[in-house]
Amino acid sequence: MHKLTVLSGGMGGARFLQGLLHAITTGRLPGVDPDAEVTVVANTADDLWIHGLKVCPDLDTVMYTLGDGIDPGRGWGRRDETWSVKEELATYGVEPTWFGLGDRDIATHLVRTQMLDAGYPLSQVTEALCKRWNPGVTLLPMTDDRVETHIAITDPDTPSGRRVVHFQEYWVRLRAEVPAETVVVVGLDDATPAPGVIDAITDADLVLLPPSNPVVSVGTILGVPRVREALAATTAPVVGLSPIVGGTHVRGMAEQMLTSIGVEVSASGVGLHYGARPNGGVLDGWLVDTADAAEVDRVTAAGIACRAVPLMMTDVDATAAMAAAAVELARESAQR
Ligand code: GDP
Ligand code: CA
Repeated sequence: MHKLTVLSGGMGGARFLQGLLHAITTGRLPGVDPDAEVTVVANTADDLWIHGLKVCPDLDTVMYTLGDGIDPGRGWGRRDETWSVKEELATYGVEPTWFGLGDRDIATHLVRTQMLDAGYPLSQVTEALCKRWNPGVTLLPMTDDRVETHIAITDPDTPSGRRVVHFQEYWVRLRAEVPAETVVVVGLDDATPAPGVIDAITDADLVLLPPSNPVVSVGTILGVPRVREALAATTAPVVGLSPIVGGTHVRGMAEQMLTSIGVEVSASGVGLHYGARPNGGVLDGWLVDTADAAEVDRVTAAGIACRAVPLMMTDVDATAAMAAAAVELARESAQR
């Protein structure tokens, strides 16, 4: 296998990619070339405009993580960050104050916004930013079009009793602590896949769904027109790794999002939600954590090859082992 394509969100996807690249370069993946090419199709539905700047959290988390510029403690934003601009803006009383843009990070958003203003599409801007970070993958936004996830929440202070907030406001300001009633991805139905996205899936030797949020990360990528069709058509096996371990999301907000779309919060629940490729779904294989070994039969019965292996991304070695298990499962399902 030479061409690997990963459909990624932010933190979960980026950590998995770190392990995958480590596994490739150390020759730990059976049947995968040590110089294999990895293409990442990243979610852009979390993107927002703030203080006049275009911010792309998932693209940046992948770029900074793989380019060794990430703040390892927070898992997002830049290492050795300072916050002078944020403090100055707060002193002016400028809203919103809940979204933290660090000084170093702002440089990225300035470059991006300037290039977008000059007419370059997000995919070309991302390519330009990656020249500095050398992430070791080809990083593609899922689309060059504006797509935004919005969350409907209950708000007794409004006449309708509901309010719709941008995904980032739900996650960062409200800390996903109020129930999400509905997830609406504005602009998704009319989006066009960014250049290279469909080919990356169609021409791949292996497609991986990392343990990213199945609703607001992988779900939005799958919602871009033609992406599901490309997954159905590719000759590559498609293997995913569960973001739910022992009935919880480890870190993040997958539980809230799955509940809002009526999907059971379990490793098998997510696997069945993605579905088996021969039945109109996207998966040939699905890895669950050893804590969820009892759910393997349920996934297998749905026509998806399934194994239970440790899925906690505690360090790069543990994550590399997850990548190796995904490749093994892909090879088995390709032989069937
Ligand atoms: P985000 O865009 O930053 O939210 O990142 P992703 O969508 O790529 O991934 C977030 C999801 O990763 C979370 O909702 C968790 O379900 C999952 N996750 C985080 N850490 C782990 C881990 O160590 N193991 C597994 N299996 N899933 C994890
Ligand atoms: Ca995200």
